Amino acid sequence: MSRIPLRRYRRTKIIATLGPASSTPEMIEKLYRAGADVFRLNFSHGSHEDHAARLATIREVEKKLGRPIGVLADVQGPKLRVGKFAAGRVTLTPGSRFRLDLNPTPGDAARVQLPHPEIINAARIGTNLLLDDGKLRLRVLRAVENDHIETEVITGGPLSDRKGVNVPDVALPIPALTAKDRADLDFILPLGIEYIGLSFVQRPEDVAEAKEIAAGRAQIMVKMEKPQAIENLDGILALTDCVMVARGDLGVELPTEEVPLVQKRIVRTARQLGKPVVVATQMLESMITAPAPTRAEASDVATAVFDGADCVMLSAETAAGQYPLEAVEIMSRIVTRVEQDGGWRQLTDNSRPETERSSAGAIAAAARQVAHTIEAQAIVTFSNSGSTTLRVARERPDCPILGLSTSLQTARRMACVWGVHPAVMEEIHSMTEMVRRATAAARLEGFAKFGEEIVVTAGVPFGTPGNTNALRVATVK
Ligand code: PGA
Ligand code: MN
Repeated sequence: MSRIPLRRYRRTKIIATLGPASSTPEMIEKLYRAGADVFRLNFSHGSHEDHAARLATIREVEKKLGRPIGVLADVQGPKLRVGKFAAGRVTLTPGSRFRLDLNPTPGDAARVQLPHPEIINAARIGTNLLLDDGKLRLRVLRAVENDHIETEVITGGPLSDRKGVNVPDVALPIPALTAKDRADLDFILPLGIEYIGLSFVQRPEDVAEAKEIAAGRAQIMVKMEKPQAIENLDGILALTDCVMVARGDLGVELPTEEVPLVQKRIVRTARQLGKPVVVATQMLESMITAPAPTRAEASDVATAVFDGADCVMLSAETAAGQYPLEAVEIMSRIVTRVEQDGGWRQLTDNSRPETERSSAGAIAAAARQVAHTIEAQAIVTFSNSGSTTLRVARERPDCPILGLSTSLQTARRMACVWGVHPAVMEEIHSMTEMVRRATAAARLEGFAKFGEEIVVTAGVPFGTPGNTNALRVATVK
């Protein structure tokens, strides 16, 4: 990679979803320059060719700018949908009956297909079905009648072809990976991506299954969007690599007033484990059609930063909106402004999780403490697997983290981690070499000048994953 120092002056990272509004090489480069650290390919939309072309473009931009960029392939999961209507749409009136069945014949105001026998079978009297992002609500009157369910319309309104169905009350007897997801992963994994976004996870086993498919080629980013997943939070977070607070579907499946609390709980738990956590959906929603966000949206982004999330995410704002570039710019400005605030720093220090009870955890905590005391310009981590870098990021130090790795894949994976400026370096063999490389990198990447101090940490012998045991202070020469 060429050496053009291009660095961010904020800790919290930004994920931007690519779509029709953001697929040209020019736009992807502009989004990166404006602040997108990770790009998301959303497999709920677009063809394999679309995603492959975007991925290739991201890699070109990465090469041109000399900065590792993370790519998140977000697979759709078991998103339930109704079938089609003869008239394309119907209006359901409250109090009327509506039948969901397996019959593919186009529907009308009395019935429509629900092509998911598992759901038809799992429904019980009183089960709620939410349609079209929760705008309409049906309640099951009569359970399993061979191949259909009878419901009463509780909240009515227009319903059109292929609208989504959420069933929050029911633990769905279906795995998180559908046949489509498997085909999507078979396609994208060999091309090389950093994280798999796993939708509608319910159980730890869902994560285990995805991990088996990924086989180390990508990390798993669980999307928390089912109440069942919140119930299994600890088990799921223990297995996953990263987590997303997927507030879109979460807000349909849970009462709205629960979403802010669940967001805080997931962020807190992930931070304790030192696993990257993303706050997603509707962050700057009004910017899909407007050049400036609402004040409430600005506050929402700020809240995620105050909570200590690793990343904030843009969805339709950058994928399909009219102002993709402005959305990233404004998000970056909000994040940067919060992080300049003394109150933010204080909150970050006060919410630091207890030191991990291991020598590696102790070294990471010490690195932060030393860097704070001597006002070091950066903590430089040497980590091929990324584990040392993650440990230091968990401490939320007040100086930036320069995360060095011999692996481009690891450097890309670190793109979503709080406070980390990832870079690729050649292999090192001794502590002397480590210090020399660290100071040179800190200078080259624009973190420290001649005479300034940095803190260096690594696992020795080099290349043993998970083994953070060395701590040095070095002066840039
Ligand atoms: P989606 O996931 O955009 O793929 O639905 C995010 C969410 O539900 O918030
Ligand atoms: Mn979702």
